[in-house]
This record gives sequence, C-alpha cells and structure tokens, in this order.
Amino acid sequence: EAKAQGRGTYRIFAPEMDEHLRARLEMEADLRQALAAGQFELAYQPIFQLAQARLSGFEALLRWTHPRRGTVCPGLFIPLAEETGLIVEIGAWVLRRACEDIAGQPGELKVAINISPVQLAFGGIVETVGEVLRATGLDPGRLELEITETTLFADNQRNLDVLRRLRLLGVRIVLDDFGTGYSSLSHLRLFPLDKIKIDRSFVQEMPHRADSAAIVDALAALALRLGMTTTAEGIETAEQLDVVRRAGCTEGQGYYLGRPRPLQQALAEAGAAAGPLA
Ligand code: C2E
Ligand code: MG
Ligand code: MG
Ligand code: MG
Repeated sequence: EAKAQGRGTYRIFAPEMDEHLRARLEMEADLRQALAAGQFELAYQPIFQLAQARLSGFEALLRWTHPRRGTVCPGLFIPLAEETGLIVEIGAWVLRRACEDIAGQPGELKVAINISPVQLAFGGIVETVGEVLRATGLDPGRLELEITETTLFADNQRNLDVLRRLRLLGVRIVLDDFGTGYSSLSHLRLFPLDKIKIDRSFVQEMPHRADSAAIVDALAALALRLGMTTTAEGIETAEQLDVVRRAGCTEGQGYYLGRPRPLQQALAEAGAAAGPLA
C-alpha cells in the first residue's frame, strides 16, 4: 500500500517538477546559442504623432525563432535572459541592429529600444550606446531608450547618474508602461525623462471606464506641464484612438495603427496606416 501511494505521489508530483526544470534548463541552453545561431530578429511597430497624423518612428521588439518551438514570445525569454545575464549581450545586439536599420532610412524617423534593468545596472550601457552611435552614424536625437519604473526604483542614485550620462549623448529617455507597478509621480520629477508611455491597461479600459479616461487625460496634461510628451500604448480600436487624441496624448501606438512587422513591411504598412489618423 505504502509503496503504491509512494509511486502514486511520484507519478503526480515529481515528473511535473522534473519536466518544468528540464524545460527551463533546455530553454536556457538554447538561449545561450540563439544569438550566434542568428535566431533573433527585430519586429518594428509604428508610432504616430497624433495631431499631425504622421509617422514618428518605430519601437523595435525582439523576436526569437526557436528551431523546434517556433516563435517564443519576449514575455517568456526576456526574463530568462535577464536571470542569466545573457540580456547584456542580446540587448547590445538589439541596439546595434536597430540603429543600423534606422540609420539606413532617410528622414527623421526615430527608433525606440527597450532597455532591461540588468543592462542599466551591469551592462556598461553608456559605453555601448556611445559605441553603437559612432559605429552606425545614427543621429542620437533619433534614438529613444525605453526603461520601466521598476528599473528606476531599484537604485535611484546610480540610475539617475546613468540616465544623465545617456542624455548627454543626445539620446532620449522614455518611461515605459507608466501606471503599472511602482508608479510614482515623484519619478517624473526626479529622473531626466523626455517622454512617458501610458500603459495599455488604461488605454484599453477606455472609453468604458471613466476613471481610466480621467487618468489618461491627467497624465497627458501633467507630462506637458513637466516638459515631456506622451505616447498612448495599446490602441486597438477607433474609439480608443479618438479618446487618446482628445486627451491630448502626443503619440499613439497599437494594433489598430500597426502591428510589429519586419522593417520593410513595417515601412510599407505605416504609410497606409496614416489612414485611420487622417
Ligand atoms: P513593451 O516595451 O511595453 O512593448 C509593447 C508590447 O505590447 C509588445 O509586445 C507589443 O507587441 C505589444 N502591443 C503593441 N500594441 C498592442 C496592442 O494594441 N494590443 C496589445 N495587446 N499589445 C500590443 P511584445 O513584442 O510581446 O513585447 C513584450 C515586452 O517584452 C515589451 O513590452 C518589452 O518589455 C519586452 N521586450 C521586447 N523586446 C525587447 C528587447 O529588445 N529588450 C528588452 N529588454 N525587452 C524587450
Ligand atoms: Mg517598450
Ligand atoms: Mg510598453
Ligand atoms: Mg511592457
């Protein structure tokens, strides 16, 4: 009996744990060689200036095509890349590739890149950004670095110093996903920020929730008063676009305006997407 129970327990519990751990270790090993194997690509999602109905630029989003699993979403592998420290090398690749891609485009198109807290803390990020700007010849004013609040919260004084040095290079600092996590209005005053991205949870609850609309209105106004611009993220419907425009957000981004795509496709589609804005 005891033996049967023991085996039963083993069957239900241990193999799952084992499987979970095995999958994780396997993913980690795969991630270690993904860069060298050329399995990463960038997808570009358009960001539009709302008042002018004009393409402002693109956010570069990392995509991993795993040889057996197919596309792995960033929500799964970015945390793993952060835990293992691989994000430093991967993040440098993203930065270089995106700057190369956009430097090759005529005009004033900007590119926004997500920077992990790990890169900010240990990655020699100021040196990396400086090197990439020199190597690609991209005008620093066309590069935006997106960071999240959790990042800033971690080590105020050090992060403040890093952001100041980045800004001296001429790049812009954007606070991503504002309104989630440890949101604090004091961050807006304390850190040298050029723009805030209003998290898509607020945008998507509008216009059905008056309180979300009120928050977007207030954030857009506050940002302007503090000399910053705003991007509304996650616009999926014409109605949401209408509300964020009326709230006075500077820029908009979301599936309704354009999905993340390979560069050439993103460029082609962005021209057509000015349609819903006009
Ligand atoms: P994020 O920086 O907030 O990027 C926006 C995410 O929202 C992207 O997901 C984008 O595809 C998605 N999105 C855009 N418009 C809409 C919409 O209308 N509706 C909905 N539901 N979603 C929309 P993605 O590409 O899966 O990336 C997820 C997160 O992974 C990013 O959030 C960012 O935090 C991180 N990430 C992506 N690429 C990189 C990278 O190169 N480096 C680092 N450190 N993080 C990255
Ligand atoms: Mg972002
Ligand atoms: Mg975001
Ligand atoms: Mg996010």
